[in-house]
Amino acid sequence: SAKAAGRRQWCHYRPALQAGLVERHELNENLDSAIAEAAFHLYYQPIVDLRTGDLVAFEALVRWPHDRRGMVLPDEFIALAEESGQIVPLGAWVLERAAEEAAVWHAASSAARAAAGLPPLRVNVNVSARQFRDAGFVDVVRHALDSSGIDPRTLVLELTESVLMRRDDRLRADMDTLGDLGIGLAIDDFGTGYSSLSYLREFPISLLKIDKSFIDGLGLSPQQHALVEGITRIADTLGVQVIAEGIEHPDQRDLLAAMGCPLGQGYLFAHPMDGPRARALVRRATYEPA
Ligand code: C2E
Ligand code: MG
Ligand code: MG
Ligand code: MG
Repeated sequence: SAKAAGRRQWCHYRPALQAGLVERHELNENLDSAIAEAAFHLYYQPIVDLRTGDLVAFEALVRWPHDRRGMVLPDEFIALAEESGQIVPLGAWVLERAAEEAAVWHAASSAARAAAGLPPLRVNVNVSARQFRDAGFVDVVRHALDSSGIDPRTLVLELTESVLMRRDDRLRADMDTLGDLGIGLAIDDFGTGYSSLSYLREFPISLLKIDKSFIDGLGLSPQQHALVEGITRIADTLGVQVIAEGIEHPDQRDLLAAMGCPLGQGYLFAHPMDGPRARALVRRATYEPA
């Protein structure tokens, strides 16, 4: 068509964009074979109790080891995989793998944790809007639970506000089904999207992750402080646990703990780590309490 021809021509005069398209195409093909070969890695970042420092959960974060590009971070390929639909098989792999890994942590630590009065470790898995809307998604979750054998209460799905925005019947039904399975549902990056506390009342949400951008402003701006404290209070009243994301400084942790924020995650505690390091941490946290 004329439009396509026009676009081609426009690209012709913009080599950078053209290179971008070729690169995207190549990345898409690379992604296809990576998905086929399950050539991804999961890294795990601790989520801790801000009062006691206890390890409570790990968030699974996908990495793509690429021949030429090194370890590619999700920001560079998740959006691409969402556009192409490749996120559906990739996301299913992530869920299965994360649940299998959680089963290993549970075998190593649940008994000792129970003796210490701690619940089993949870695993948080990110789910994108496209993946959630796929007709097979609930079955993928069921399958990950069945094949790993983990207690559904130890699986948490992290959903962004973009998933919850379209409040249609299908979304409500799926959220209720997932809630009934017994898994936890978290709102990720709270405050960056179409933030609405009414999501907490409309859906069976059990966790709220306050975005790093709010945590960055703690101690710098009284307004920011009041906002985080207010969200924490409201969430607590509704039986929703707050996780503060991106904690990098001890004073941020102290302010959050003082305002009653129960959980936190960030470089202050640990960077995302590979599977063997996470297993070693599980054993350390279980058998050598600080
Ligand atoms: P997210 O779910 O909000 O994950 C938190 C991101 O913040 C991670 O980046 C983590 O490494 C980073 N982070 C944690 N603590 C700190 C800190 O103290 N300071 C700073 N500057 N950053 C911190 P990562 O691993 O690069 O992931 C980026 C995003 O990619 C994730 O944001 C999530 O939206 C997406 N993602 C990652 N894995 C998956 C996946 O398996 N499926 C889907 N659909 N999305 C994923
Ligand atoms: Mg997340
Ligand atoms: Mg987040
Ligand atoms: Mg984020």
